[in-house]
Amino acid sequence: MTRSTWLPKRVLVTRSAAELPHGRQIVDRCAAAGVEDVQLLRTDRLPSLGGDDPRSAYALAKSTLAVVVAPPSKRKLQPIPPSADWRVDLAEGCPAHCQYCYLAGSLGGPPITRAYANLDEILDAVPQHVGGGAVTSGTEERGHEGTTFEASCYTDPLGIEHLTGSLSAAITRFGTQDLGGPVQLRFTTKFDGVDPLLALPHNGRTRVRFSVNAASVERFEGGTARSQDRLSALGRLASAGYPVGLTIAPIMPVEGWREEYAALLDAVSAAVAGVPQLDLTAELITHRFTPKSKEVLLGWYPRTKLEMDEDLRRQKRGKFGAVKHVYPAPVMNELRSWFDEALATRLPEARFLYWT
Ligand code: SF4
Repeated sequence: MTRSTWLPKRVLVTRSAAELPHGRQIVDRCAAAGVEDVQLLRTDRLPSLGGDDPRSAYALAKSTLAVVVAPPSKRKLQPIPPSADWRVDLAEGCPAHCQYCYLAGSLGGPPITRAYANLDEILDAVPQHVGGGAVTSGTEERGHEGTTFEASCYTDPLGIEHLTGSLSAAITRFGTQDLGGPVQLRFTTKFDGVDPLLALPHNGRTRVRFSVNAASVERFEGGTARSQDRLSALGRLASAGYPVGLTIAPIMPVEGWREEYAALLDAVSAAVAGVPQLDLTAELITHRFTPKSKEVLLGWYPRTKLEMDEDLRRQKRGKFGAVKHVYPAPVMNELRSWFDEALATRLPEARFLYWT
């Protein structure tokens, strides 16, 4: 247990989930962790949690863990550039309270964290996708990592690992089984409860990236581990032979950003100093929002100080025409060239993967 360890107020378990061994294991873990309100439902429908306004509905949902069976549509692996070849979801939702949460607007309904009980079925889909990825296969920087599978697109899997054990099962499966070719499991986290992972037979096939940021941006990250605790966890995993990484996101040009990001890179350098055969990557993602995510976030955090001003942004259209508000080109260029230089000088051991 660490300071940021999450304990839900209630756990709802659907009937089908309770019939599966992994679902029952999650129930046992929740009880052992001290959750008193564990409800075994008679059907597979989650009840409405209530809440009179977005803020109270949010609070009820964020204190609830649901144990459910992922339907076939959620089990279908999807390409997820530029992070990885494929997305594999062990859960959906996250117990933390980041005021810029990248899940806002992409999940339907109240933000209940859902852990999937049919983990074996989900992981059984992996071998059919090995060798078929478009992002890393064949690229010079990442081709040697094999086909990559991203487990943190819709959740922070480490934030609920003490209650699910799903991540340990996935890391062990990737590390010990022949999945039909070179593979890498990947996930990003803002939590630090890595001790159960240290002795797993990961075989270097899981890359754990820590989402880190400037001190002024960390203020927006409620319910997560503090930055120094994340970096300490990163150092421990690297010493245990895991490939590790930084997801510096969302990058924001806050006041004093150069000094704050420089301090961050220096702290990372100190955290990995002396790690033998360090394998460290860096993924850099600037802040963006969509009309939908802004609306959802303002419902959840009505008094947020997070800048989401369309007039200060440039519109970018996604593949299907969806609008994103990103920083204008001069700001992007300034940030990008600063990070290029700062990474090269302050953290030369990090392999840069992408900027977006
Ligand atoms: Fe959202 Fe990630 Fe923060 Fe969880 S840790 S609230 S998924 S941004």
